[in-house]
Amino acid sequence: MTTQRTPLMAGNWKMNLDHLQAIAFVQKLSWTLKDAKHDFSQVEVAVFPPFTDLRSVQTLVDADKLKIAYGAQDLSQHDSGAYTGEVSGQFLKALACEYVIIGHSERRTLHGETDEVVAAKVRAAVKHDVVPVLCVGETAEDLEQHGAAAIPVAQVRAALEGLADLDRLVIAYEPVWAIGSGQAATPAQAQAVCRAIRDELAKLHGAEVAEATRILYGGSVKSDNIVGFMSEPDVDGALIGGASLKVDEFASIARYRSHVGA
Ligand code: PEP
Repeated sequence: MTTQRTPLMAGNWKMNLDHLQAIAFVQKLSWTLKDAKHDFSQVEVAVFPPFTDLRSVQTLVDADKLKIAYGAQDLSQHDSGAYTGEVSGQFLKALACEYVIIGHSERRTLHGETDEVVAAKVRAAVKHDVVPVLCVGETAEDLEQHGAAAIPVAQVRAALEGLADLDRLVIAYEPVWAIGSGQAATPAQAQAVCRAIRDELAKLHGAEVAEATRILYGGSVKSDNIVGFMSEPDVDGALIGGASLKVDEFASIARYRSHVGA
């Protein structure tokens, strides 16, 4: 079975850029991609600003009819109520967020998010019709003790437990040791783990879901290493942190096909 998966280049801004900076950034990104005649139907581009920027980004995208997608970096597992500081999936949907990042390693380690919390957040996103970008990945210690694939595959299994409706899931394989370290995985390492995740998806949810699901690589992606990752058959895009904060660099990553003349 061959499914065409549209590559996704997703920029995780983390806690950077306020709403005014976000407007300037998204405007400049869209001009840069337009000048380069970027075809968004061939490579999708999405930004993930802080919560406080989302309304401004929505207004700009709507007003200028931009093709850049956007999403949030997290959501609450709850719909509403006494959860100070939390943001509901229904609020994200009301801002027309297409995506939400769930289970980023910084949430898992700095905010103590367990596999159970991550699974509840995936269910909340699906319930509110916001596409989860589920992050999984092994630490350096995990890698030494269990190899590369065991932990990410187990995290996928735990996060998707009991879920039936998975037609618009995105998974991001992000080795924790590669995030922000400048030391990316090799394309072959990324391919091996993305393949193992796809095989697990096939076991859990059938071949059709496995073939349709986009699996991204994340961890020190830059314009000069993206082509290697995108040459691998099971890598369908990238989740990009630091390099997504520079317009020209992020646009160049999204335009990876032009680096090889394709
Ligand atoms: C990330 O935080 O998801 C990430 C991949 O960061 P960086 O690209 O900076 O390694």
